[in-house]
Amino acid sequence: MRCAAFSFDSFITAWGDYTLCKRGYFHDEAAAFAFVEGIIWPQGPVCPHCGGCDRINAIKPNPEKRVRFGLKHCGQCRKQFTVRMGTIFEESKLPMTKWLQAIFLMCSSKKGVSAHQLHRTLETTYKTAWFLAHRIREAMRSGELAPFGGNGGDVSADETFIGRDPDARPTPSHANPSWVEKMKVLTLVDHSTGRARSFVVDTLSKAGIAPILRANIAHETRLLTDEAPRYITHGRMFADHQSVNHAKDEYVRRDDPTITTNTVEAYFSIFKRGMKGVYQHCAKKHLHRYMAEFDFRYSNRMALGVDDQKRAQRALLGVVGKRLTYRRTYEQPQA
Ligand SMILES: [Zn+2]
Repeated sequence: MRCAAFSFDSFITAWGDYTLCKRGYFHDEAAAFAFVEGIIWPQGPVCPHCGGCDRINAIKPNPEKRVRFGLKHCGQCRKQFTVRMGTIFEESKLPMTKWLQAIFLMCSSKKGVSAHQLHRTLETTYKTAWFLAHRIREAMRSGELAPFGGNGGDVSADETFIGRDPDARPTPSHANPSWVEKMKVLTLVDHSTGRARSFVVDTLSKAGIAPILRANIAHETRLLTDEAPRYITHGRMFADHQSVNHAKDEYVRRDDPTITTNTVEAYFSIFKRGMKGVYQHCAKKHLHRYMAEFDFRYSNRMALGVDDQKRAQRALLGVVGKRLTYRRTYEQPQA
């Protein structure tokens, strides 16, 4: 037989019970495994090989061999497994206590935590800390596909630039704006839900951003942008399009204060301070993971009633099915 999927409510109950136990899961490996099992299997262990949940027994550790915490045996397919299988924890030898500490640190630090900081705090190598942080960013990736701004809500869209884009090929002209050679990020913020969704893009041309706007914003939305001409045509795809003119120092429309892009600008403010102050450098091939991290914290921020504890809970909910390996040897750690 197959078990029912775990629910958010049962997970919250499990987390609450464990927080009352003075967070033993941060320093005791058996407690850490029990804690993660309580989240991923709130109704008891489920075999990742066959999906069965009957006749699953914990294997008693052999004192003469290496202790494998949380090792289980499935009576149906006769295979062994632990809760790490099929999650971001798979392929990692790092103790579960350190995983949980890293998740909490990354979720509770508004501008992020550098791999160097994780390496010193968790007493791992820098390389391990770097891989660890990227796997946690993968857990933070929402994977949500529903478009923003349904029911006629407001969605603001804007772009920002960071670092240097190695793929940028500016034409030899003095007319090129300074951002052409930088990496480009397009961010959407749903004003109704407070959630953010960011995209690393190669171009900000009308044709380049059209598929993103079309796939991620509902037709009944009122789109809010600055005066950039790239949005004029796209604005017609939606119920309404209003813009503020930053070139004329207009940041909030005087006769209608709901017309502004200050919401998405505030997101960029946190993102820029994090990237410049904490991460300092980011290669383009990894930028989408950093965006997932900043999107996650912004979409689960205190102003929306999500405190550090709840934010870490939500990140842990994302560990399942996000197995991420860096087996390719050319992937060198870099911030
Ligand atoms: Zn099985």
